[in-house]
Order: sequence, then structure tokens, then C-alpha cells
Amino acid sequence: MEPFKDPAVDTSNSHETLKKVRPSWDEYFMRIAHEVATRSTCPRLAVGAVVVRDKRILTTGYNGSPSGMPHCEDVGCLIRIVDGRESCQRTLHAEQNAIIQAAYHGVSVTGASIYSTHQPCLMCVKMIMNAGIEEVHYSGGYPDPLAMELATEGGLAMVRFGATEG
Ligand SMILES: [Zn+2]
Ligand SMILES: [Zn+2]
Repeated sequence: MEPFKDPAVDTSNSHETLKKVRPSWDEYFMRIAHEVATRSTCPRLAVGAVVVRDKRILTTGYNGSPSGMPHCEDVGCLIRIVDGRESCQRTLHAEQNAIIQAAYHGVSVTGASIYSTHQPCLMCVKMIMNAGIEEVHYSGGYPDPLAMELATEGGLAMVRFGATEG
């Protein structure tokens, strides 16, 4: 019988295989953001965010109810029409929770980047700017033209993940 050979394990000492499977930093943090999103408590949309500076994770957040309040997945979403579209008003957004966690634990996020599974909304963009975060990497679309407009006006870099890699 052939011994099992895990293709992800490089035993050649050349580390060639390892280099191929090793994600870039952007990919690494974005993958973590997607993992964080799995903790979301709102069945409408699962969003995850990771705040990073100098290749170190400072805080993470996912969309969910404020502490001690019932979860959407248990009591249903609190839907209201805001700016012409239906949205769940029960939850704090992933980006907001990541910034709040930083405040709660006394961690400065000035000069950091935020990796989010979705394009941040207008409110989140404003909070990100005032928290001193300088760069947003987002993966999926949650198109909000006004949020993009404001980000550009405020000098906040919005980088769509994967857009430069074709
Ligand atoms: Zn909800
Ligand atoms: Zn938001």
C-alpha cells in the first residue's frame, strides 16, 4: 500500500509546495473575516470584520444584537425600511462591533486597516473614519453608493478584495 502523502505537507525541504498554498496577508485576514462572520446571530446576512495593524489582529466583530439582548435567530429580525430598503435594526454591524470591542478593551485602532466580508454601510464608513482607521478591504458587495462617496471625500481607502488580482 502506498503511504499517504498530504500534498500540503512539503517534505522536500525546498518549501515550494508550502509557498504555493500560503495565502497573502490580505487573503489571510479576509479568510479570518469570513470565519468571524460564522458567529453572526442575524439570519438575513452574516458579516465579519477584522481590524489589523502591522500584520497583527487588534479586534474582530460580527453582526449581532447588543450583549444581553435576544438574538434575531431566536426571536426574528427587527425589520424596518431605512433609506428605502429593508434592514434589520436589531443588530450592531460587524465593523461597529470590531470598533466597540477595541474601545471596550482599550485598544487603539488609529492607523489600522479593516477587513470586512461586505462593503461597509454609510454609518460604518463614518465610524471607521472617526476611529482613525485608514483603509477598508471588503469582499462581497452590499452596494451603498453614498457610503463610497463619503469614503472618497474623507480620504478613506476602499479596496475591493480580489479586484487587483483579476
Ligand atoms: Zn436580524
Ligand atoms: Zn454597517
